[in-house]
Amino acid sequence: MAILVTGGAGYIGSHTVAELLDKGEEVVIIDSLIKGHRESILGGRFYEGDLRDGELMDKIFKENDIESVIHFAAYSLVGESVQEPLKYYNNNLMSSISLLNKMKEHGTKKIVFSSTAAVYGEPESIPILESDRTVPKNPYGETKLAFEKALKWADEAYGIKYASLRYFNACGAHVSGKIGEDHMPETHLIPLVLQVALGQREHITIYGDDYATDDGTCVRDYIHVTDLADAHILALNKLNAGGHSNIYNLGSGEGFSVKEIVEKVREVTGHKIPQVIGERRAGDPAVLIASSEKIKQELNWQPKYESISKIIETAWNWHKNHPKGYKL
Ligand code: UDP
Repeated sequence: MAILVTGGAGYIGSHTVAELLDKGEEVVIIDSLIKGHRESILGGRFYEGDLRDGELMDKIFKENDIESVIHFAAYSLVGESVQEPLKYYNNNLMSSISLLNKMKEHGTKKIVFSSTAAVYGEPESIPILESDRTVPKNPYGETKLAFEKALKWADEAYGIKYASLRYFNACGAHVSGKIGEDHMPETHLIPLVLQVALGQREHITIYGDDYATDDGTCVRDYIHVTDLADAHILALNKLNAGGHSNIYNLGSGEGFSVKEIVEKVREVTGHKIPQVIGERRAGDPAVLIASSEKIKQELNWQPKYESISKIIETAWNWHKNHPKGYKL
């Protein structure tokens, strides 16, 4: 029996495939390779294509005994989603609905969904609980929330069980150094600061230092990509054991400011990393920190990478050895 991983050639998808393979699971991957990298898939059976391609999806379900799905395939740029909302509704929501339809047709009844902290919008309190209000501030978060709701109704109507995992800031790279983060364009803080350390950028621009935080810069909750990957597997195991559908936050529970991250990168890389204070980035809340108590208690999830320096070391190891990402 196989696990279908959609978006398995993406950043979090490829790390989850790696963990599944380590556990001896049979893995089937579908990825359009629009954003993903063929080289990041360390094993399993790969299909290139789109979730909206009904014929391809039928073929995948017929050729493999798909027992469950882990669904990552999506665009993930918040800014782009505001500029091009329909691209996000089309790719993130419509393709997810097509996937769910195929699961229904082929009798696959379990799905772990890659959701996001962006479903919360401006937090009502910190740390953020799963039961807090969800008012996304951009189409990216909106489409993820819409699919979470579709899952709820699909469970009621068809008995498709789901776990939605709302990630905070995914970062780091596989401990083997074989796979890591490679986005085009890169917009995330840690890889951008590491590009400065590599001499690929002159400085890091800090998006605003007048927030209501200790040092004035935004505070985020950074979580290692392999810890995220492990959480998917635990969530799937729970569904396999007859668990009911559920929603979980995934973060470390600890916040670091942008300035603190830049300082940690200086310590890890030994590079002085010039910084420039720029304008605030639209839509950035001052503080986002998860409560991950629920997943710790219910699924016994425990992050292995608890130190931010260790997380940055794994990312540095990847970027240092792959300065051009997978193109190297
Ligand atoms: N950030 C920054 N400069 C950059 C990129 C990001 O100051 O060049 C800040 C951003 O405003 C946010 C934090 O770093 O407060 C993390 O941003 P990222 O894009 O990595 O993740 P997000 O929080 O948007 O999911």
